[in-house]
Amino acid sequence: MPFASLGLSPALLRAVSGKNYVTPTPIQRAAIPAALAGRDVLGSAQTGSGKTAAFVLPILQQLEAATQSKTRSVKALILVPTRELAAQVGETFRDWARYLPHPPHLASAIKVTTVFGGVSINPQMLGLRGGTDIVVATPGRLLDLIDHNALTLDAVQTLVLDEADRLFDLGFADELARVLDLLPNVRQNLFFSATFPHAVEQLAQTLLQDPVRIIAPRAPETQPDITQRAIAVDAPRRTQLLRYLIEHNKQEWQRVLVFVATKHGAEIVSEKLRKARINAEPFHGELSQGKRTQVLADFKASRLKVVVATDVASRGLDIAELPVVVNYDLPRSAVDYVHRIGRTGRAGIAGLAVSFVSAATEAHFRLIQKRQNFELSLEHIEGFVPLEIAPDTGPANGGIKGKRPNKKDKLRAAVPKEQQT
Ligand code: AMP
Repeated sequence: MPFASLGLSPALLRAVSGKNYVTPTPIQRAAIPAALAGRDVLGSAQTGSGKTAAFVLPILQQLEAATQSKTRSVKALILVPTRELAAQVGETFRDWARYLPHPPHLASAIKVTTVFGGVSINPQMLGLRGGTDIVVATPGRLLDLIDHNALTLDAVQTLVLDEADRLFDLGFADELARVLDLLPNVRQNLFFSATFPHAVEQLAQTLLQDPVRIIAPRAPETQPDITQRAIAVDAPRRTQLLRYLIEHNKQEWQRVLVFVATKHGAEIVSEKLRKARINAEPFHGELSQGKRTQVLADFKASRLKVVVATDVASRGLDIAELPVVVNYDLPRSAVDYVHRIGRTGRAGIAGLAVSFVSAATEAHFRLIQKRQNFELSLEHIEGFVPLEIAPDTGPANGGIKGKRPNKKDKLRAAVPKEQQT
């Protein structure tokens, strides 16, 4: 099914071909016509499924069709769990909106405003002066801005919840309830979540009116194409191995996202790489929002070669054509492993995920493989063949009589002490 049969306007179809999108992904195929027809949508979709365009395109088309009044009011509200996702979704809106007819002195006739916490509120208040058409927000900052009378939600026609499960995971339930109270009762709701725990199910039931339910598999064209490798290395030699791999695979390792277990680790590893003249920066939750945004922008624009990150970067982020992800420290859980490696191999472009495995983490890596149903043999790289022997960790329950270790205990026991938090 081509994009042309989804009911999109000529301007948006030109945008689609301008972006070289050939066929819609399954979530786009189902959600775009439903949303254009004004239906509520309940989509089970992961990052990588093309879900952003699935709500961005119909919203832009609805705004394109609406006659523009002189004063702008918020007609579409998109709630997201994290600052990075807010920035990313806001950019996607702006990017597509440029293709719509607009006065010559403006980049777009539609104004998109992104708001999130962790940065000063004043520029965001200024940005909302004169109104706006689309707001992409994290819930806490949105409420702050409403409390400062910087915007109102009484003209909202479409509400999108993106990554609803993470909104709950991150403790936004109360803020979400407050925002929902401020919205007009009659509106369209587009609701996307990767998983459907009880809280999300319940919200969907109260929020949505006869929704079109969509379960989106990953589209063939966005099917992750990720080669996974595991390299045995002694823990103290991991930075040297990383340098070696970056320097000896210049073609393929043009940009590398390296995952470490701690903020401190992110600082140390990136500093060592910089000393070796490799352009690297850390990325973790203790950096200012300005710094985090800068690092991501530099990485996306290939001004940075390596980003050394904690798991703060493992979900949601879409870094186009990222060729390599390295697990310098293994993730704590098998689920985190999937999220981390999913940063590469996106939108049909092949990716490589390399895990460094030391004697102390070998058992943990076996558990990750078992959980995720894959098996890799450990590679040895000349000059880095490990000498360490796996420590005898003793009984996995720490010797507590009568307590059999459960799966969580075993996973925890297999993570080296310095990685445990
Ligand atoms: P998302 O799941 O919205 O984060 O999208 C993941 C990636 O897929 C983004 O880089 C999009 O630009 C890309 N993408 C979305 N829809 C399509 C499509 N129909 N064809 C090709 N790439 C797409």
